[in-house]
Amino acid sequence: MDQTYILLLGLAALVAVVAAVVIRKRMQQDQDESTPADSPYATSTEGEKRCPKCGMGNMWTDRQCIACGAALKG
Ligand SMILES: [Zn+2]
Repeated sequence: MDQTYILLLGLAALVAVVAAVVIRKRMQQDQDESTPADSPYATSTEGEKRCPKCGMGNMWTDRQCIACGAALKG
């Protein structure tokens, strides 16, 4: 057997193995992406408490609305 032929055969086998690994990884990533990252319960107001009375955005540390003084939950 020619040495170049063996080298090419080995290279082809290596490429096939790498391709199989890459495809498998990509398929696993697709499965991970199929599950939503954020839950439907997540709030869109990041770090902010909406006043139930006037709708003012307050800091999540505030216990009272800065606009109308209504008590905030949490
Ligand atoms: Zn308010």
